[in-house]
Amino acid sequence: MNRRRGAAGVVTLLICTVMLMTVSACARDDEITRWTGVVTRLLAARSEALASGDEDRWRATTASSGSIDDRELSAFASLRALGVTSLTLQRVISIVSGSAGEATAVLEIGYAVPAVDRGQRTARRTVVLTGGLATPVIRSWLAPSDPLEVFDLVGMAVTQTSAGLLVTPSDPKAVPATGEVTWPDLLGSALQRVATAWSDPQSTLVVVPRNLADFARLVKRSTAVGAETIAAVTEGARSAGSVALTDRLIMNPVVAQSLTAEGVKVVLAHELTHVYLRRTSAQELPTWFSEGLAEWTAYQDVPVPLASRWAAAIERQRTEPTWPQTLPNEADFRTDSPEFALSYVIAELTVTELASRTSIHGMFDQLMPTGGTTAITTEVVLAAAGTSEAALMGRVRDRMLSVARESSP
Ligand SMILES: [Zn+2]
Repeated sequence: MNRRRGAAGVVTLLICTVMLMTVSACARDDEITRWTGVVTRLLAARSEALASGDEDRWRATTASSGSIDDRELSAFASLRALGVTSLTLQRVISIVSGSAGEATAVLEIGYAVPAVDRGQRTARRTVVLTGGLATPVIRSWLAPSDPLEVFDLVGMAVTQTSAGLLVTPSDPKAVPATGEVTWPDLLGSALQRVATAWSDPQSTLVVVPRNLADFARLVKRSTAVGAETIAAVTEGARSAGSVALTDRLIMNPVVAQSLTAEGVKVVLAHELTHVYLRRTSAQELPTWFSEGLAEWTAYQDVPVPLASRWAAAIERQRTEPTWPQTLPNEADFRTDSPEFALSYVIAELTVTELASRTSIHGMFDQLMPTGGTTAITTEVVLAAAGTSEAALMGRVRDRMLSVARESSP
């Protein structure tokens, strides 16, 4: 009897606990739903402001229309200049409501730059809401830990070029292009080089930020430390089995200042090749192959003798005649790898060697149909080229030897 009552007591207690949990969970869910509705409405209001060019409407979504944060106002101007007319809520990562009618929402929002994007780009935002559920406004929509989107940059100008949209500081002295050449000219001739090697490169969004800190945040690095070694980055998400739709080409302004005009063109053409390949191939290519194709394209018709461009690799082979035995692997291309610089040379030499015996375009077209489901591995590439890694590396060594011989007096 006691025992049964005891058992019943446990059951009652369990039901209460479950009910309590349900009630509190319901309350939380309800609040999250309401704040989600708030965010959706505020983004819709911002979209309407963008579509109609109504800056006051945009201001009305912010906490203080008098002392609005520079970044938020310039975001309105930048989004307008980029032609963006819609901001959508794609995903709520978390919403934490605090006291005094505030809430912090970590979200993914979607937007597209019509001239260059072929789909929605996802941007992470930490949005601080204030004013409660009754009169909600956005206090800020970017935390220091959020990666920057191009429209977060302050004081930028958008220029329509033959290669797509170019975003540079509005003060041309902030990041001057090299010599007398302008950024649109550099980009135009870089695109020309890619167009000669590959058919129909599409419009791209190219960004030259003001400083290294902005560059690091645009390319999603947590710190600017180490970013000075990277000349440029092609940045964008892609889902497995799908081509990249919203890549950005981000140029390191510090490196740009240290290069000749030809050097900047090589960097831009290298990245534009990545953009082209990522828009064409639904699968990632092996790193040596994509870097090799980008280098091979970027250096077409560059009037610098191979012996001086490949000097470091030739010197390494002189002291180590059996090097290289294998293709550079993924880790060799990391900026902190001792093989970093030479890996690019070997990748370019390998693609140059492939191109001397087979049509690179034919090979690339042949690889494409496998893109949907089958990973494009090194083995798949080598099979398409009808060679083996050992044979190919032997030819790469021979080519370096002959370049060294031709250049020696
Ligand atoms: Zn690259």
